Amino acid sequence: MPLTRDTPLTDLPGVGPARGKKLEKLGLRTLGDALEHLPQRYEDRRERHTLRDAPLDRPCCVAAMVAEPPRATRVRKGLELVKVRAVDHTGWANLTFFNQGYIKDALRPGESYVFYGTVERQGRGFAMTNPAFEREGAGRFTGLILPVYPLTAGISNNLLAGITRRAVDECLDGLPEALPDQVRKDHQLCQTRFARKNIHYPATFEELALARRRLVFEELFVLTCGLAQLKDRRAAGAGRVMEGGPEEFSALLPFAPTGAQRRAMEDIAADLRSGKAMNRLVQGDVGSGKTAVAAFAAWTAVKNGAQCALMAPTELLAGQHARTLDALLSPAGVRVALLTGSVKGKEKKALLSALAAGEIDLLVGTHALFSEGVEYHDLGLVIADEQHRFGVAQRSALAEKGGAAAPHILVMSATPIPRTLALIIYGDLDVSVMDELPPGRTPVRTLLVGEDKRARMYGFVRRQVGEGRQVYIVCPSVEENGGGDWGDGPAMDLKAVTAYAGELRERVFPELRVGFVHGRLKAGDKDAVMSAFAAGELDVLVSTTVIEVGVDVPNASLMIVENAERFGLSQLHQLRGRVGRGRHESFCVLVTSSRGETARERLRALCATNDGFRIAEEDLRLRGPGDFFGKRQHGLPQLKVADFAADMELLKEARAAAEELIAADPGLERPAHRLLKQRVRELFGENGELFN
Ligand code: ADP
Ligand code: MG
Repeated sequence: MPLTRDTPLTDLPGVGPARGKKLEKLGLRTLGDALEHLPQRYEDRRERHTLRDAPLDRPCCVAAMVAEPPRATRVRKGLELVKVRAVDHTGWANLTFFNQGYIKDALRPGESYVFYGTVERQGRGFAMTNPAFEREGAGRFTGLILPVYPLTAGISNNLLAGITRRAVDECLDGLPEALPDQVRKDHQLCQTRFARKNIHYPATFEELALARRRLVFEELFVLTCGLAQLKDRRAAGAGRVMEGGPEEFSALLPFAPTGAQRRAMEDIAADLRSGKAMNRLVQGDVGSGKTAVAAFAAWTAVKNGAQCALMAPTELLAGQHARTLDALLSPAGVRVALLTGSVKGKEKKALLSALAAGEIDLLVGTHALFSEGVEYHDLGLVIADEQHRFGVAQRSALAEKGGAAAPHILVMSATPIPRTLALIIYGDLDVSVMDELPPGRTPVRTLLVGEDKRARMYGFVRRQVGEGRQVYIVCPSVEENGGGDWGDGPAMDLKAVTAYAGELRERVFPELRVGFVHGRLKAGDKDAVMSAFAAGELDVLVSTTVIEVGVDVPNASLMIVENAERFGLSQLHQLRGRVGRGRHESFCVLVTSSRGETARERLRALCATNDGFRIAEEDLRLRGPGDFFGKRQHGLPQLKVADFAADMELLKEARAAAEELIAADPGLERPAHRLLKQRVRELFGENGELFN
């Protein structure tokens, strides 16, 4: 039977049911799956040398004959060595294998093998440690560029490479082409068969680059086609008409809106009035005053008889928003309520029935806002604040919560998302940029200090408090539970953070009022501490990164970050955004005992600029998108090939091509686009639920 892409891997020799199970763990069931399993790196095993000519600084292949029976020795429990000598016409090499007992029988005296590894000098001869090897002339794993795959226990790279070799050799005929010919020509992309072969077994790195470019483009193209379709469909979607302008609303504000705030409000007013469903992102750096803009949108919706839901990433922030918005909007008759995971029992029941009866106008909360059993009377507007994971899928799911017309959607985000990433995550939204801070702000001064400055720093804390200011001291997160902070800083032991807070309270600042919050506190307790800090009843707030986004206490003028090297730059920028919100000169002190030059250089970059955009780009470049969002999902389909940091130029190219194509064939109905349409559906959900 010829092999096809549908052939189960368990049909292959050497793959029994047990290995089949393990392969399934990697998502591999058929040869077709194996074709799509991408190498994570490559080993260049093409170069072949004699022992004497072998380079000593990098691995290469050496052909040599095993000169004696291998000797196994058990050094101690858990450490077994196999040693053997091999020779070629230029010299000898002692080979050592650690904990690979089977090698004793795999290497036969008098036989020639190709060994791949780094050759070292040893006395008058050479040595190799744990070289890979195969029989001379076999050419399966040596003499080529070998793909190295992500593995799982019990599955070796050789096994997988053997499988992909067969897939590439036998299953590429008739592989369908998802990219339209014209797109392929316009962007100089190789064919899908060439790409699939060469992503696994390229003869040269140039071929590999061509293959990769094509696959990355394809992936980004499918993604952006989906986003373009979503945007298209949304644009066509009816939205209820809501009237109202910024002038009347601004009378409620305790300050005059900035030009940027006014422009964002005008954009929103125009959307709400248009008869189409709003899908807008307001992007503005920390402290640019996004809350007031959100308040305007909520006010407009309520004035027009609709309900509004505002979702925040943490309970803490939800509580703060509820207080701010209540103070601002209740004079205008808006009834504000707070719903978080910790509202329970009777209280929750009462709240839910008031909501369903339309007795609540603006519901503020965490993701609990859209959990099971939460029924709105007439939801007309959804606002998501600082919700980096409030991606495409979540927004689409929301569309169903409204009545006949989809609710208007407003997403608020601080800038530390590089433009390019935002393009993907928010690629289906219209964007208002707030590029102006409220007047009277002086930029936060950022300093990097070592342990030797600790005493002076504590002195500075006392002076700031003496002048009536307040101080944050932030430690790396204890593992936060579910609340949705996007800080994934390496966990510091809760005990350590708590002990540090205790020490500050008792020994360092006995004369100051010191409070402590962390993610494990009950929401009520967290709120109590935060409210006390906001009300000026605490001088120093020791906290984990729960205060990272959104917290607004204008009297705070000093932020100290302990173990600053453990945070991402964007995260530090967000943290720093907690100060410099009032009239007072503000400071951010990054404490690190790290001597590492890269770590320090990273932190110095933060000292040098207050521009969130630039910091975000730098962060993405240094850490990649995974860290950027923490380990958690951001509501986007998982990409397999593309790398957000490295492939941005291609993203722009793919996106332009996708928009052009969708403009010409919005439903991807043309026969030539059939496969593309299917790919888009696969990427955006098993059943393409976003597109039904
Ligand atoms: P963001 O959410 O964009 O980080 P906030 O909405 O929390 O910023 O606003 C930051 C601070 O600036 C708040 O204390 C807010 O009251 C204040 N603020 C907002 N807009 C203005 C303005 N136009 N003039 C003066 N202060 C403002
Ligand atoms: Mg905010």
